[in-house]
Parts: sequence; C-alpha cells; structure tokens
Amino acid sequence: MKSDYESEELLSGEDTSEDEGGHAKIRKVYYKPAHRPENIRFEKGMFFSSLAQFKMAVTEYAVHGGYAIKFKKNDKERVRAVCEAHCPWVILCAKLDGQLTYQLKTVNLEHKCTRTYKNPRLSSKFLASKLVNKVKQQPNIKLTQIQEKVHGKYVLHISRSKAYRAKRVAMDQVEGSHKDQYAALWDYCHELRRSNPGTTVKLMVKGYKEGEVRGEQPGKDIQPTFQRLYICFEACKRGFQSCRPVIGIDGCHLKGPYGGILLAAVGRDPNKEYFPIAFAVVEAENKDSWSWFISLLLEDLGNERIYTWTSDQQKGLDTTLKELQPGCEHRFCCRHLYNNFRKKHPGLLIREHFWKAAYATYPRHFERIMAELKTIDSEAVQWYVSDWYKVETYKSCYAPLIYPTNDPNMWTSPQHVDIL
Ligand SMILES: [Zn+2]
Repeated sequence: MKSDYESEELLSGEDTSEDEGGHAKIRKVYYKPAHRPENIRFEKGMFFSSLAQFKMAVTEYAVHGGYAIKFKKNDKERVRAVCEAHCPWVILCAKLDGQLTYQLKTVNLEHKCTRTYKNPRLSSKFLASKLVNKVKQQPNIKLTQIQEKVHGKYVLHISRSKAYRAKRVAMDQVEGSHKDQYAALWDYCHELRRSNPGTTVKLMVKGYKEGEVRGEQPGKDIQPTFQRLYICFEACKRGFQSCRPVIGIDGCHLKGPYGGILLAAVGRDPNKEYFPIAFAVVEAENKDSWSWFISLLLEDLGNERIYTWTSDQQKGLDTTLKELQPGCEHRFCCRHLYNNFRKKHPGLLIREHFWKAAYATYPRHFERIMAELKTIDSEAVQWYVSDWYKVETYKSCYAPLIYPTNDPNMWTSPQHVDIL
C-alpha cells in the first residue's frame, strides 16, 4: 500500500485514491504547467484549476506544434478546443458541478493536419508575454527582428501589425513596472533609513515649474517628480575606512523608459577587489551633478584623508575634484585612456607597451618603455606623455614609496644609543 508521499514521488502529479481493500481504483491526474511546451500532455480525466490554465496550456501546445487550434465553445463553464477542418483532434474541458475544478471530458489527440504557417493561437497578447524580457533588454528592437525571431522559434509568420501590437503590450508591461517602482521610491528611502541606521539616502525632487528644484520635502500642493537619488550604506562608509584612500568614479547610461545616469564610486579592498562605496541616479552627467555626488560622498567619508581619484576623461571633473578637495590626486583610468589612444594608434605591439608603461613601478622602467615605444611610433609617445602621463606627476605622488631610502622620514629609528 502506497502512502500519499510515495504516490506523489512516483507518479508526479498523479494521485491514487484507494478503496477499503487497498487496491488502486481511480487514478487522478492533475495538470502541472510544463517548463517546455514539448512536454505538455493531455489525457482524459485530467484536472485543471481554471479554464484560463487550460487555454494557456492549449495555446503553448498549439504554437509549439504548429497546430491551427481554435476555441469553438468558449464560455465560463466549458471550452472546446478543435483543430482545423478534417482534423479529428479535439479536447473539451468542463467545470465540475459544485466546485471550482475543471476536467477534460472529451479527448482525441490524433492529428491529421499539416503544420500551419499562420496560427490562430499566436495572439499579440501571447506573443507579448514571451517578448517582455527581450523588450526590457533591447527597447529599440525592430519589428522585422520580432518577425524573424517568431519565425525562427515557432516557424510561423506574423504580420507587421501583430509584431507592433505585441511590442506595444510588452512595452506597457515593462514601462508600467518602471513607473510603479519610481512611485515607490519615497517609501523605499524611508525603509532604508529605518533598517540601516546611519545610511545616507538623499532623494531630490523637482517641482512643477521648470527649473524649480526643491530639497527633500515634497510640497503638499504640487506633485513632485524624481530628479536625483543618492545612497551610501553605513556598512560601506565604515568598511571603506579600512581600504586605501583610492576612489574610482564613473557614470553610465541607464536603459529604460526614463533614462538617466547611474554614478558610482568604488574603492579597492585589501584583497584588491572592488569595494562599493556609494551610488546615485542623476538626470545627466555634468559638472553640477558630479559636484553634487562628490560633495555628498566627501560628507559621508570625511575630509580627513586626502583621496586619489580615478576617472575617465570627463570634462570638468578635474576642476570639480580640486575645488571640493584641494590637494587631492586625480588620475585617469588606463582602460578609458587606452580606448581613446588606440583610435589613433592601433596595434598589438603599441598596446603591449601602453600597458607595460602603465604597470611600471619605477620611473626608469617607465622611461625605458617609452623610449622603446618612441622607436615604434613617435607620435604615440607624444600623445601619451604630453597629455596624460607625466613622469613628474608620477614622481610627486610615489616618490616616498619608490625612493624610500631618500626619505629620512621613512627610516625606522634604531634601538641603540648613538655612538658618535
Ligand atoms: Zn490537427
């Protein structure tokens, strides 16, 4: 005699009820949504929790198999799914009396049709549900690309207008969720402050009037719109105190219906891994938004340590940094530098030299590589040295480290009494 647990395990989705003698009498089969449409099976007596579930299962089955299935009788109590004329395939799903359960009554799974090229089950709504992720990643997807994808996946043709409708529905779903999430930002900020004491969360909103920027209190009379958000977690603030005073900053465009720029500040931890410090969402990457971000960051990290900042060649960032933290060091990220450099000076050999110079640990080494580079491409050296990478800057920053014996302050004091 099987226990309920065993029958679950062995028959997966089937349930066996027993009579008093312990003999299996009625086998109950419940529909379980399959991950792959080719695994969808129907059989007489199978139970469904709703007609919508049944219709979805038939739709997946029809689109995947290329069957021109239609819902003939389609009301609140029953749905009859039939294949095209001359094909005997039919399934009737009907409600059981007195309960919210639906069961397959008539089932004939034999097909005599050929694969259809236009499928009545492939509605724009069904297609949209399959397109949501694609549209999220690639909002500018072309209608012809959608048509090609449908053809590649289902071997079916859809009209341009159906592709358009499907994209529209999918876009509405994606944008709808963005809209809802922006609306929940105010509560999210409060929750962050409540659950992470010490965390800095700044939400800047914009009033109705053009150019009117207000602080953190939304007016009662006007509906504020999102402008900027800054978050620096307490744990990150504290953790960064154990990292070297090096901060990398960069911005990237946000995909999605509302655009905007994500600004991020990262450090390096003692294991040389990235250490997130703070991030912000701003309307555009400009002097104003950068100085807003960096001044909030300095407030959080404190101005006691002088930081070395690494960034791309963003215009105006250099002056912003010098204004906000006089005496700080500012370097350009080599990866960004190289991306610009190689446009004019492509080639593997030059690339090798570029990175060797970047990794050089003492000025002689650097100069030697530059001399080699000069024999390969003298213009490249001109560009590299004159604008972005000067030996003098390098020395001023690292002199105490690369010439330790030349700096008496770095000598350890001897334990012994002076002889002279
Ligand atoms: Zn058929």
